[in-house]
Amino acid sequence: MSNTGFLEKKIEGLKDEGVYRKLPILEGANEAEVVLNGQKVINLSSNNYLGFANHPRLKKAAIEAVEKYGVGAGAVRTIIGNMDIHEELEEILAEFKKEEAVMVFQSGFNCNAGTIQAVTEKGDLIISDELNHASIIDGVKLSKADKAIFKHSDMEDLERVLKEKRENYNNVLIITDGVFSMDGDIAKLPEIVELAEKYNAMTYVDDAHGSGVLGKSGRGTVDHFNLHGRVDFTIGTLSKAIGVIGGYVATSKSAQEWLNHRGRPILFSTSLPPAAVGAIIEAVKILMETEEYTDKLWDNAKYFKEKLGKLGFNTGKSETPITPVIIGNEAESMEFSKKLKEEGVFVSAIVFPTVPKGTGRVRCMVTAGHTKEQLDRAVNAFEKVGKEMGII
Ligand SMILES: *Cc1c(COP(=O)(O)O)cnc(C)c1O
Repeated sequence: MSNTGFLEKKIEGLKDEGVYRKLPILEGANEAEVVLNGQKVINLSSNNYLGFANHPRLKKAAIEAVEKYGVGAGAVRTIIGNMDIHEELEEILAEFKKEEAVMVFQSGFNCNAGTIQAVTEKGDLIISDELNHASIIDGVKLSKADKAIFKHSDMEDLERVLKEKRENYNNVLIITDGVFSMDGDIAKLPEIVELAEKYNAMTYVDDAHGSGVLGKSGRGTVDHFNLHGRVDFTIGTLSKAIGVIGGYVATSKSAQEWLNHRGRPILFSTSLPPAAVGAIIEAVKILMETEEYTDKLWDNAKYFKEKLGKLGFNTGKSETPITPVIIGNEAESMEFSKKLKEEGVFVSAIVFPTVPKGTGRVRCMVTAGHTKEQLDRAVNAFEKVGKEMGII
């Protein structure tokens, strides 16, 4: 009766390759210590950097927004789904990011998919770092502009592309992640901005892992390098450090107005639900009040990274709370993650094709929500399993 038998065969293929998996089931809120499929584990795998996903102030704000506005926006923003709290959110985000204007999307993914195609056209060129996020890759695919790739954070290669191609195009857009999610390294943004200015190109930074993490009170990579006013499009997510859901682009007023008319997720997908908007506004207010959360995040990240380093683990070139522990062999990386889970630490293995062959790893995400005691317990598990497997 079903026509999807071909998918059954594909699933068999996944099983043969050993990459078939079921989704882990989280029983309760996303916190530093959680119950996963019935087992209590220390959570070193979430993007909930500041512990906001279950923060009492955000929850209260969400409930209040539901009481006043209901559970759904009821329409796309361009029809009648643009509530006053959506406007309020964009204003407070623009103030926080110190940029002229902000356009909010339903997710970071959506923001890349909608923005890149709207601000480029035939006759333009997009130049993208080879390690950019999947949503950028998809966003670029939706654009009618030509595409070029530069080697990861390689400024000579970026300049080579600009030299070779710049004069053949109208507008040129250089796109980079702010913080790269698999290694935790930071984009060479000052150099990228200088090259962009030299070759008259626009810049686009996807700061999903930089927002709420880098810069003063988590204002992001642009703030970290003090490049305000020199990056044309800064994308942030509201789903990671901010703890809720959504994405945004901080940009000029004119770009924001253009997205209002041509950003397809704005025109064709319902706006964020009131509960999410209320919670996000509260999160931004907290960040504007205090650096307590970002300080704690960095303190924990340094503590954890130092301990792993002392034990002899290779944490790669991470400059942020994203802490890869590089194992190398793919199967060994999976085994390492599995054994850590048996010891009560949940940290996901990341292997080819997500990272290059032979650079398999587990990726630890330290948050402000972890206690030192929890981090110590995690380090002990790393030591035990690392020695057992002959990694350290
Ligand atoms: C996570 C991520 C996104 C997607 O953000 P969501 O809000 O989860 O959709 C986009 N870009 C980068 C670089 C990311 O890491």
